[in-house]
Order: sequence, then C-alpha cells, then structure tokens
Amino acid sequence: MKKKLIAGNWKMNGSTATNAALVQQLLAGVGQAACDIAVCVPAPYLAGVEALVKGSAIAVGAQDVSAYDAGAYTGEVSASMLRDLGVRYAIVGHSERRQYHGETDAVVANKAQKALAAGITPIVCVGETLQEREAGLTEEVVKRQLAAVIHTNGHCISEIVVAYEPVWAIGTGKTASPEQAQQVHAVLRAQLHAATEHSDRVQILYGGSMNAANAAQLLGQADIDGGLVGGASLKAPDFLSIIAAAV
Ligand code: PGA
Repeated sequence: MKKKLIAGNWKMNGSTATNAALVQQLLAGVGQAACDIAVCVPAPYLAGVEALVKGSAIAVGAQDVSAYDAGAYTGEVSASMLRDLGVRYAIVGHSERRQYHGETDAVVANKAQKALAAGITPIVCVGETLQEREAGLTEEVVKRQLAAVIHTNGHCISEIVVAYEPVWAIGTGKTASPEQAQQVHAVLRAQLHAATEHSDRVQILYGGSMNAANAAQLLGQADIDGGLVGGASLKAPDFLSIIAAAV
C-alpha cells in the first residue's frame, strides 16, 4: 500500500536559529513514522536544513522551482540546483505564487516538467477561490489546472504529487470538510486515472488549515493521501501530531 505524505510548507518564515530548533524537535519526536515526511523550506535555508535532516526520515523540499534550465534568469533557482543540494520535492503552482507572482497554468506545468526532468518530485497545487466555489466552478477549475500539468508531462504524470488546496481554506482557519475535500480528490483521481494506468500510486494531498485536531478525519478519506501543512508545520508538536495521524 502506498504511504501517505505529510509535507510542511514553511512559507517565508524562519531563521537559521529557529529552523535548527524546529528540526531538532521534529527529529526527536518523529520516531518510526508510518508516512513519508517533508519540510518545504525557504530557498536560502535548503542546504542548511538538508544537512540537519540528512539520513533521517525527513526529506527537504523547495517551495518553488524555475521554469528555465540555466543561464540569464536573475533570481531563479533551477531544478538541477535543487537536485545538487539533495532536495527531494518542489512545490509548484501554490496559490500564493499564482496570485502574487502571476503564475499561469502553463508556467506551473513547465515547472513541474523541469522538476521531473531533474529527479525532483513536484508537489502540484490546485484549488479554487471562494468566488469560484460559490459559482459552482470548483471541479472545472481544479481539472483545468491539473490538465495543463498532465498535458505537458505525459507519461511521467504518475511521478507527481498533487495537492488540493482550496484557496479559501489557506491560512484562514476554515478547513474544507472531509466530505468536501474527498469529493474533489475523487475528481482528481479520476482525471489521473484517465491519464495513466499508475494513478493509484499518485499521492493526492489536502492542504488548507490542516491541524492536529482535524488531520485524522481528513486523512481517513479514501482519496486523501496526505497533507500540505502551512501554519501548523511551524509548531513541532502540531506537525508531529499530524504525522502521527497519517497511518
Ligand atoms: P495553511 O497553509 O495550512 O496555513 O492553511 C497551507 C498551504 O498554503 O500550503
């Protein structure tokens, strides 16, 4: 059976000192976790955190990756650079990148492609805004977002991780109900199934105000294979509780 994946998204938080303290607490508490674990850290801290978790059950992820290979792209970080540092995952298409940095479905699809080509697992984020949900467009939006990535990545698509993150649930304390989330996860699974015979191996994560109190119920749904955890991943006891719930 495939393992669940609990990935922390630290966003633009932390310092050398607080990262070390957080990682130390995680390493002390994680034990024999039943799930895959990752922390997606800000780019300047990737190498430092990788050194801290090396050889442990915790993998390191980036929060973004360039859609370009190498060269004159000031400020960008390429997939092969991430690979060079020992990074395993890269979040692509997080709604904050789509919203504040104008990332289109096509850009997100290219980023996923660059990650895959370098041996990095892209965590592809999809999700509707509140306005889109209220207009009854949830399925259409998430299918359009995932379709772009499938179209660009063809037979490699079974190697991605998908994260369903309803935009209205991110950082708001408003979690999708387990039923609401499962309904969308089932749609995404069906879409993956139509694209690859290996759709069952794709981990589909839920993200959006997942916490120690609601994780078990969300993770108990048939098509929820883990979580992409923002705020609660910055507190070791909360993140460890979510990891413990991922059985
Ligand atoms: P949140 O963020 O858990 O703080 O809602 C999740 C995310 O944005 O990945």
